[in-house]
Amino acid sequence: MTSKLYDIRKVPFQTADGLTLDVTNIRGAKPPTKSPVLLVHGAGVRGNIFNAPVETTVIDALLAEGFDVWLENWRASIDFRLHDWTLDQAAFFDHPEAVKTVLHETGAQTIKAIIHCQGSTSFTMSALAGLVPQVETIVSNAVSLHPIVPRWSRVKLRLAVPVLARLMRSMNPGWGDDTPAGLPRLLGWLTKAAHHECDNTACQLVSFTYGAGRPALWEHENLNDETHDTFIQAEFGHVPLSFFRHIRACEAAGHLISLETYGTLPEDYAAAPPKTDARWVFFAGEENKCFLPDSQQASFEWFDGHAPGKHALHWLPGYSHLDVFMGKNAATDVFPKMIAALG
Ligand SMILES: [Zn+2]
Repeated sequence: MTSKLYDIRKVPFQTADGLTLDVTNIRGAKPPTKSPVLLVHGAGVRGNIFNAPVETTVIDALLAEGFDVWLENWRASIDFRLHDWTLDQAAFFDHPEAVKTVLHETGAQTIKAIIHCQGSTSFTMSALAGLVPQVETIVSNAVSLHPIVPRWSRVKLRLAVPVLARLMRSMNPGWGDDTPAGLPRLLGWLTKAAHHECDNTACQLVSFTYGAGRPALWEHENLNDETHDTFIQAEFGHVPLSFFRHIRACEAAGHLISLETYGTLPEDYAAAPPKTDARWVFFAGEENKCFLPDSQQASFEWFDGHAPGKHALHWLPGYSHLDVFMGKNAATDVFPKMIAALG
């Protein structure tokens, strides 16, 4: 967690299917003067991914503006034991309960959310299904309703994932140079043979696991040395193949669909108007090689079609996927746009 002098309070919550997850409140020297903001991490990381070793994190920037900052650790968090989770489960069980917990703890009637990658796809499912009506503004990074991936990622999703899913339960870029014997070590060797962009095995394994670029989730020049050399390996962990099966199905459909049946979750999330009044502000790194920026363009156009002029889209030149939050210059290039979006 952050090394800065913040007051940090973890609040566990229970999901209806029996998991204990948590939200973490971060307070600065001054009490908040603005709305709670819930930050939702992506797959195979945790809430601390928003706390890269840079001079000003998105947490710092939000606190400086008076927001009440909450980090959600949903079932994909590496703080918890490995689960064979799907986006449906996160959408139905985790995010609605996290939102309710923040409302209960703060006494607020509404909150805002900053959602990233698979935290964004699954939170988008919650919102479109009408399960988080208390969220009035949603800032989404990288991907939301329309997962569009590079051609090589599509090949991996359609050909490699079904094979790997029979042989292993999860991938873990946090293995670094200590990949377990057997198939993981073979994948580690293959990854090192294919990736010569740097000497950091964790960075290479992230690219193998999540995208098609070298590297896939950031532009190297956007990261400082500590983030690249230390933070990546510390903050990336297990991600189950069950998740990749779900995103493969969504990618093939062109938009989010359900893999399982839970309560009122729709089979097809693009088939009906959104059951949320939230204003959406989409962010897309132009260099993103995990989910192409066309993903957020398509989602913005879908939402704009349902409420013309209400929502917004920001393309970020020179940025990729996670450097939007971890980048050494994100405090000047990105966070002011996000804070303006939150209002
Ligand atoms: Zn690297």
